[in-house]
Amino acid sequence: MTQSTDLNLSIFERAKRVIPGGVNSPVRAFNAVGGTPRFVRRAQGAYFWDQNEQQFTDYIGSWGPMILGHGHPEVLAAVQAAALEGFSFGAPTEREVVLAEKILSLMPSMDMVRLVSSGTEAGMSALRLARGYTGRNKIVKFNGCYHGHADALLVKAGSGLATFGASSSAGVPQDVVKDTVVLEYNDVSQLEQAFAQFGGDIACVIMEPIAGNMNFVRASVDFTRRIRELTREHGALMIYDEVMTGFRVALGGAQSVYAQQIPGFEPDITVMGKVIGGGMPLAAFGARRAIMEKLSPLGPVYQAGTLSGNPIATACGLRTLELISAPGFHEALHARTGRLMAGLKAEADAAGIPFSVDHQGGLFGFYLLPELPATWAEVMKTDGALFNRFFHGMLERGHYFAPALYEAGFVSAAHTEADIDKTVQAAREVFKTL
Ligand SMILES: *Cc1c(COP(=O)(O)O)cnc(C)c1O
Repeated sequence: MTQSTDLNLSIFERAKRVIPGGVNSPVRAFNAVGGTPRFVRRAQGAYFWDQNEQQFTDYIGSWGPMILGHGHPEVLAAVQAAALEGFSFGAPTEREVVLAEKILSLMPSMDMVRLVSSGTEAGMSALRLARGYTGRNKIVKFNGCYHGHADALLVKAGSGLATFGASSSAGVPQDVVKDTVVLEYNDVSQLEQAFAQFGGDIACVIMEPIAGNMNFVRASVDFTRRIRELTREHGALMIYDEVMTGFRVALGGAQSVYAQQIPGFEPDITVMGKVIGGGMPLAAFGARRAIMEKLSPLGPVYQAGTLSGNPIATACGLRTLELISAPGFHEALHARTGRLMAGLKAEADAAGIPFSVDHQGGLFGFYLLPELPATWAEVMKTDGALFNRFFHGMLERGHYFAPALYEAGFVSAAHTEADIDKTVQAAREVFKTL
């Protein structure tokens, strides 16, 4: 394709003049992999088409929400019907109640839930709630876990435990992150050390149960269990950020997966997003009644939102959750995702390229590494140049994976075995060129 006919490129040039970096969320700019981002025109099922009308098999699914694939007819019908009734009221609706009841039925660790509009907002509110409930200031997060871009969470690990993290973004005063402790994911001894040092000041530990923002890294069962024990022992809350994993790795989220290995396991606060909106701006956080009753208007922790519980978003999310509640839905999705992972692994092995894979439900990770990593530092040992060649090779052939080696991948119910097999076939060609 010549430059003059590449509509993605010409739109990108225009975009860069009016939108910083040409995009409204940084990863879309392809900075990590280089090249021109694909501007999407439309999508259906497992595919989307860019401005050049090239078709892609979509393995990001809007970074998670499109678990049913794009334009599911029943979801579309629910959205259309809701739109006819009104876009937004700023007054309560019954559908918010129905959605809340549905969420609580799927994740029994919560008695109450509050709906918001983005995962960032949900995470930020959950932290405020944890601090308000415990009357403590310190929060613990893990290196490589993403919980949205609230100021207090934009922190990189400091040089030692006692030195708290430094802000990782300009515009975040050191004062705002001085109570954020950053620890290594899956490092039990560091966790124990932190609680020994200032356990009585810790309001909460926030974690991704399966980290989907450092590709795909599971929290070990041991690590998860120790967080649960130590938070209980020290009167801190455990916040499970299931924005990515919720309703995707299993109907009951990652907490249902870990509860199989840790009897009685449940987090104190759960943060949700992505799938619960089905592609519309919708997120939520919930907990047991005693914690949630601290929220305004019942309690002293303030939280609000003009578009919270938006009637079109709730219609979209509710229909999505109903459809994915079909018996066997996640088992089938897990098998389909496993087919992709096994296929890629077999082709990489045949080509003599180090490769490791993991997946749960419709969430996956693959690494150009001989073994699965357990920490951010291990993830970042990936050969970036090799990954970028793989990424672009697949992209040229019409298979759209996350444009960064530290992002997870997503399979939807609309992906057929034939779709998966075509992707594996393309990978065979690409591995040969690496
Ligand atoms: C995507 C994500 C968020 C942020 O959600 P937004 O809707 O993008 O604000 C928070 N936590 C996790 C684990 C996520 O994957």
